[in-house]
Amino acid sequence: MLKQSLIIASILSLSTLEAFAADKWYRGNTHVHTTLSGHADTTPDEVAKWYLDRDYNFLILSEHNKFIDPATVALPEGRREDFILIPGEEVTDDSHVVHTTAMNIKDLVPWNTDETRTTTESIQYHVDGTHTHGGTTILNHPNFEYAIRASDILGTHNLYMFELYNGHNDVHNFGNEDHVSTEVMWDDLLSHGMKIYGVSSDDAHQFQTMSPNMSNPGRGWVMVKSDTLTPEAMTKAMLDGDFYASSGVFLKTIESSSNKYSVSVDPIKTADALKSTVLRGKYIKDSKEGFRIEYIGPEGKILKTSTGNNASYDVEESMLYLRVKVTFTRAISEGGFEEYYAWGQPVFNPAP
Ligand SMILES: [Zn+2]
Ligand SMILES: [Zn+2]
Repeated sequence: MLKQSLIIASILSLSTLEAFAADKWYRGNTHVHTTLSGHADTTPDEVAKWYLDRDYNFLILSEHNKFIDPATVALPEGRREDFILIPGEEVTDDSHVVHTTAMNIKDLVPWNTDETRTTTESIQYHVDGTHTHGGTTILNHPNFEYAIRASDILGTHNLYMFELYNGHNDVHNFGNEDHVSTEVMWDDLLSHGMKIYGVSSDDAHQFQTMSPNMSNPGRGWVMVKSDTLTPEAMTKAMLDGDFYASSGVFLKTIESSSNKYSVSVDPIKTADALKSTVLRGKYIKDSKEGFRIEYIGPEGKILKTSTGNNASYDVEESMLYLRVKVTFTRAISEGGFEEYYAWGQPVFNPAP
């Protein structure tokens, strides 16, 4: 019996190893602007090259109500093969400040700024229009002008992703005295039973001058786990929650099953990423340097906190969801601290 169990165990671990060996991490940015918007400073070709030159694997040129066909973007001859452009658009309704990334669309998604609609109806119009054009919606920067509340999102259907972090310097990801952070919003949505994943993006407009007070690239990205790099595979993996969102922290592993959620950080890659001079950390007056791993459940309740480079949590059957957040804190020369994050996607129980 023991022998049989060992054989089964070794077969299982072999197949698990094979499954992991087939998967790779792909770094991507789902949101960026170009000269075609009229208010950004770099051409589509040069914007794509910026990401190509920095180890990204995919990029969506998401222009306001314009479709940039990747076939029209010139990339350098002899470039590395593991970089793709995913066709997209930022569907933009400025009357409600509803902006959404239409990911992996076939062609232009129409937009509409009907002021008689509610914000919820406007979001739904984007989701449905994007779906008709073969794509998937990411709801962008809800805290830009504090335009979108959790209650506006709760009334929608078939929306599975939103920007938890957006690198634009005018976007208030962390909220203020009167408005909740996008992370509090996320726990609100998840606690209401919504299946929605958190994305991090640049929303960069300025590539010619670099400063924390400008809208620069390299501040927010996703790491997507997949066995192939295609627009379809990236979109599907994100819809399956096989990714994490980052504002500066890299992970070595992140694995979840129905009974365990484990994570380990990558201190070397994180230290390297944090050499960037354009990142925008969250200012904290009093803290402690280093990594902190938090497991978070319904209503945003912190269930376990660990310091160090790895942690795991046993998922309980009764939990509606469980997510993990990794924080890296460092002291800054002006005094105080700043925090950078990697956000793992929630696991749902029972699996939806
Ligand atoms: Zn926008
Ligand atoms: Zn944008």
